Amino acid sequence: MIKDLDSLPFADYETLGVKRFNFEGKNQYPLITSRGCPYNCCFCYSQVLSKHSWRGRKPDLLIEELKSVIKKFDCDSFVVCDDNFTLDIARAEKFCDLLTNEKLNLKWTCMARADKITERLVKKMKLSGCERVQIGVESLVPEIFKEVDKGESIDDIKTAVKLFKKYGVKTYSFFIIGLPNDTFEGVMKSYKLSKEIGFDFNSWQNLMPIPRTRAHDWVKKHGKIIRDYKNQSSVLEIGFETPEFTKEEREKAFNIITIKEKAYPFDPKKSYLQNGFSTLNLILKYDAYHLPLHIYKITRKAISMLIKGRNQTLSHIEFVD
Ligand code: SF4
Repeated sequence: MIKDLDSLPFADYETLGVKRFNFEGKNQYPLITSRGCPYNCCFCYSQVLSKHSWRGRKPDLLIEELKSVIKKFDCDSFVVCDDNFTLDIARAEKFCDLLTNEKLNLKWTCMARADKITERLVKKMKLSGCERVQIGVESLVPEIFKEVDKGESIDDIKTAVKLFKKYGVKTYSFFIIGLPNDTFEGVMKSYKLSKEIGFDFNSWQNLMPIPRTRAHDWVKKHGKIIRDYKNQSSVLEIGFETPEFTKEEREKAFNIITIKEKAYPFDPKKSYLQNGFSTLNLILKYDAYHLPLHIYKITRKAISMLIKGRNQTLSHIEFVD
């Protein structure tokens, strides 16, 4: 494992023939400021890869890297691709300060743990161009949340969302369907509770049990693998079931939530027309009352995808504001 990330050269995307980046339809540079994570969430691959070791890069080198890519790739924004960008709060603050002082005028987004957020850091993030933060929640049902062992509380999440709101930084959540001991009723309860937190967008995905995680061990003991991680091509597919939460119930929970959230699943293996028909079917089944609103949102998204290209996805889910 590489301990000193600053000893590595900057990522050289040109050798891979990259001319522009395409993340959610924008030319956003993928910046890696740290690797690994010391926490222990039951489903997460990070602890398997990094063995709980977090290593951060020096903020001044990050700024140097950004300066070089703005010219090379003509980027006006970047995405921090770390598992745990704000683990070292002082380092994250220094990075924001440098970004502000250098006047690079870049917009950026990142993921963050709710318990590694302070008001001072949020202020600095906003000032330096941070537009959106993604926060892992997984489940708002206390017993399921406890099973995940995130090492933070649901109150931490509520406080962090309030802080980001106060300073005008958008918040996106990550929720998981099918965590250990989850049920259809549990997921629907979590979905109802998610509305009370005030995220700007909620993203829901099916659990993909990854070998050597506790979630995988749990599934082997309590459930039946339908498609293993090598064949579950995305978190939109169902990889396993348990007697308490069947494949059909998992599909139903996923479809109800994604349709109500207007986060229409898009299968890149299918044509636009096929995707359109299956989405329309789901709307008529689960949210027919809002059909005109859905048609408006889908048409807007389809036009934007035709103009900018299909690859505007994050985990294959099309975000609609
Ligand atoms: S905090 Fe995030 S990266 Fe770390 S173990 Fe949990 S889910 Fe994985």
